[in-house]
Amino acid sequence: MGWRIGLDPGHGGSDPGAVGPGGLKEKEVTLDVALMLEEKLSLLGCEVILSRREDVDVSLAERVDLFNRAKVDLVVSLHVNSSYNTEASYLATYILAPGGQAEKAARFIQKELVEALKWADGGIRQAGFYILRETEAPAVLVEMGFLSHPEQEAALRQKKTRQTLALALARGIALYLGLDPDVFSLPKDIIGHWAEGVIRRCLELGFLHGYPDGTFRPDQPATRAELAAGLLNLLDKITSSKL
Ligand SMILES: [Zn+2]
Repeated sequence: MGWRIGLDPGHGGSDPGAVGPGGLKEKEVTLDVALMLEEKLSLLGCEVILSRREDVDVSLAERVDLFNRAKVDLVVSLHVNSSYNTEASYLATYILAPGGQAEKAARFIQKELVEALKWADGGIRQAGFYILRETEAPAVLVEMGFLSHPEQEAALRQKKTRQTLALALARGIALYLGLDPDVFSLPKDIIGHWAEGVIRRCLELGFLHGYPDGTFRPDQPATRAELAAGLLNLLDKITSSKL
């Protein structure tokens, strides 16, 4: 708790960043993912500082100043790569130099991204990018695939892909901070409820399930059908002795 995270959606305003063959702009993808990531990090109790929340120009110096003044604990800069080689399609996380906290964060983030997206693993890379060089906090720069790769551009157009990216980034950051990444897969409406611990356990054990809209509705009375389903789930677990 009490962590302060700087999120930097790359580019914006007059600077579109990379543009895919289908016209998708890097600045749109980075902002959308950053706003979803902000929401997830707030669930962890983190304070999130965004370098922009709209399609506006923000210089690199302004971004760095903002993060340094806010004394953030970690900076995550979001980008999408582009290459003349239209086959390139890997995920990569950049750091200034190995051996420090940035590398530790990068390892968690990169692992979660590769597992979630199933895109090629470009690994942890070193680069002297301004944002990595000038921020006082440990900083990582994530290249979320390639806009120059037509299939990846099509995937990055989808909300679902962006949600997957935000979730993987959030999980990686949570793991780096030593926080519980399973918070993100729990129904949001049980968080802070007096019975949160009990409900979490029932969900983990598979006795009860949330609703498809991502809620659990902890104060809604159970129907006789839901009770029957819950009891049968319990019986199944006992007979398969998975408890
Ligand atoms: Zn970029």
